[in-house]
Amino acid sequence: MGKAKRLNLDVVKKSKPRSSHMILASHSNLKYRETLPIQWGAKTPQARGPVVASLTDAKARNAIGAHSGSYTVYRALSIASGKFPSLHRPDLKNTQSPVKLGPFPQWFDPTKIVTLDPWGLDPAIHFKALYAQGYDIRPSIAVTQAHLQIPEIEQAIDAGRLKVDGKIVRSNRDVRVTKVAIEPVWYLPGMAARLKVDEGELRKILFQETGGMYPDFITRPDLKVWLPPIGSTTVYIFGNPLELCDKSVPLTARVHDECNGSDVFGSDICTCRPYLMYGIEDAARQAQNGGVGLIAYYRKEGRALGEVTKFLVYNARKRQEGGDTAETYFHRTECVAGTEDARFQEFMPDTLHFFGIQKIHNLHSMSNMKYDAIVNSGIAVENRISIPEELIPKDAMVEIEAKKAAGYFTRKPVKPREELKKVRGRRIDE
Ligand SMILES: [Zn+2]
Repeated sequence: MGKAKRLNLDVVKKSKPRSSHMILASHSNLKYRETLPIQWGAKTPQARGPVVASLTDAKARNAIGAHSGSYTVYRALSIASGKFPSLHRPDLKNTQSPVKLGPFPQWFDPTKIVTLDPWGLDPAIHFKALYAQGYDIRPSIAVTQAHLQIPEIEQAIDAGRLKVDGKIVRSNRDVRVTKVAIEPVWYLPGMAARLKVDEGELRKILFQETGGMYPDFITRPDLKVWLPPIGSTTVYIFGNPLELCDKSVPLTARVHDECNGSDVFGSDICTCRPYLMYGIEDAARQAQNGGVGLIAYYRKEGRALGEVTKFLVYNARKRQEGGDTAETYFHRTECVAGTEDARFQEFMPDTLHFFGIQKIHNLHSMSNMKYDAIVNSGIAVENRISIPEELIPKDAMVEIEAKKAAGYFTRKPVKPREELKKVRGRRIDE
């Protein structure tokens, strides 16, 4: 009780004590009157119904999993240590988005967006009446505004490529942005359709491959939404976010998959940070020239194989007979991981559809998988922009030549197989 006393009294009054009763295998007969139906893609937020995944009232839950992606595990540790009140309900006052995004037509198409919940942005506004009834509906999307201070942007200003305009780039060289955090909220029937598999089969594989972590996949076929324990997606917008949906406003966009080694630490074995920074520079320039810029950052480290696999591959590449060459670049990943790439780009455009995007005028990406996914989802792409040669670190030439030879987009000549053998990276001890 000592801990409960420290909680906000209003909050304690509203929420019932969390039960310590554990259900080891739940069943579909555990349906309650309080559980609201979800009609994915419905015409109004009320008809769609909120995704309720909070744990303060088990009877109201209508989704598998819990909020905050991989941080659910840290939250559990914090609760276990007694530092985190498990009954806490967020006070959402003043947390709303500074810009009113949506709704866009894509929000009402159950097939366009299946891996995020557009109504997870400011649910306190969309589901006001339900809060009054005591429902604990949590946001899964948040929007805020910020200033960026980036060395590469300073260099671009010094080199005269980017100007200080006092609006997008402030006089102190800060870049103004709107940033958006999007937690994954997966609608399983829509995902199964996009993967072209049976929903039951998808549920079975998700259950098995997570080591049986979510029995509800099997026992609760009535629950169609899952909040997976994975990373979120972050979007940085340059210029007016409300113009992203206007196809007559030029849009420069980069869809970037996380690479901690390069993005954060500046490791030179790949082109990730240089390409990301070039994207930011170009997105800011586009915003200054009457357009809008967008960088979407997906937490898919090491081609969604993870950083441990990635580092093992680096070692295997650098120790192989004949050294690290562009010719064997993809093969080495496949040897270690079982596949050269575990990313499934078909879900990536969901983030773009959230903003109502219909056309990308300049797409910063050389990946055909990304390009095809975007175009097949109904978004037009005018130009594709490769990373400029002068930005490629020397040790990353292996990656870039291998990618070009494998069909990644480039306007430059592609090296024949014999030439790829000559594109060498450092040895492991260099
Ligand atoms: Zn990288």
